[in-house]
Parts: sequence; structure tokens; C-alpha cells
Amino acid sequence: MPYQHILVAVDLTEECDPVMQRAQKLAANSHAKLSVVHVVEPMAMAFGGDVPMDLSMLQQQQFDQARERLDSFAGKYPKLGTDQRHLAYGQPRQEIHRLAEEQGCDLIMVGSHGRHGLALLLGSTANDVLHGAPCDVLAVRLNKPE
Ligand code: AMP
Repeated sequence: MPYQHILVAVDLTEECDPVMQRAQKLAANSHAKLSVVHVVEPMAMAFGGDVPMDLSMLQQQQFDQARERLDSFAGKYPKLGTDQRHLAYGQPRQEIHRLAEEQGCDLIMVGSHGRHGLALLLGSTANDVLHGAPCDVLAVRLNKPE
């Protein structure tokens, strides 16, 4: 069965382009719908969860900037309508899985750095997304391991 709805998780770096190009080809071959999601991570999470100050204004700025970056990223892919661009807030794995379920996606695509050593032990978003995913996950290799 060809895929019907592909969700591409994008961190909005230039590395997303090879993943998007692969996704576009796959979507065209399967006549599938294509959507993208970027997840803004709570600032407190980066500081270990316990920050003794109000980060809400900074958080709002971060969210607004992410919206602009997502729109300019999507500008490179004219077929990506506004209803196919999703901005979520939270933990990437959780939010990508939630959106994939909500949107009825049958394939999630992520970029993968093919890490090894300590980085492998610490894990990666690609690895994280794979675990407990509600559908297939395709990790596109971004570069060769050193
Ligand atoms: P990383 O393991 O963080 O280097 O990211 C690998 C891949 O995970 C990226 O190429 C994206 O596909 C996905 N990813 C990482 N961070 C995010 C994010 N904040 N939102 C959506 N996808 C992400």
C-alpha cells in the first residue's frame, strides 16, 4: 500500500532540505499528502526544568520567531499550503507522535546524523521519534559518520 500522508519533522536548519526533497519525491510517487511540523521546546526544558524566573515573554518571542522561520522555510516548497505547516510546543517526540495521530499520517520522516559513541548513548531526535511511533518512521541519513 502506498503512503497516504507523510509528516516531515523539521528542525528548520539547512539540513532539512535533503529530508524534504526525499519526502517530496516519495509523496509524488505515492500521490500522498505532505505535511511538516516544527516543535518549539519549552525553554525551561533546556535549563533542566527548574528555572526561578518567568520565561513566558521570551517563550512567546521564541514561538513567534519559529512561526516566521517555518513560513520562510515553507516558502521554498510552494506546494506546502498553510494547513500543511504545523508548529507545536513541547517535547519533540511527544508532539510529533501526537500530530501524526491527529492528522492520520502513516509515515513520519526525520533526518538522522548516524551518530556514534557518546552521542549515540545520549540519543537523538530521530532515535527518540522511532520509539513508540504510531506509524512507520523513515530516517534520512544527513551525513556520513566520522
Ligand atoms: P537531531 O537528532 O536533533 O540532530 O535531529 C534530527 C532530526 O530530528 C532533524 O533532522 C529533524 O527531522 C528532527 N527534529 C529535531 N529537532 C526537531 C524539532 N524541534 N522539531 C521537529 N523536528 C525536529
